[in-house]
Amino acid sequence: MFAKFLLTVAVVAIIWFGFKYLQRVTELRGRRDAARAPSGDKPRFEPVTDGESVQDLVKCSVCNTFRSPKLGPCGRAKCPY
Ligand SMILES: [Zn+2]
Repeated sequence: MFAKFLLTVAVVAIIWFGFKYLQRVTELRGRRDAARAPSGDKPRFEPVTDGESVQDLVKCSVCNTFRSPKLGPCGRAKCPY
């Protein structure tokens, strides 16, 4: 009877400390990643002012995907581009 109680306490303690350990590891990992990649150095999309880097996508009626018309045909038969 007492052994059962002891086993239950041991299992609860193992789960409790396991969660605490995982929480600590996650916290440390998040802090390390935040220190490694400061928010100011994130890559940013900067469009070229000539408009070449910004293109309207056109829906292909055959393959139902959006592509730039400048890319040419998608390779499927009856592709309108
Ligand atoms: Zn297509």
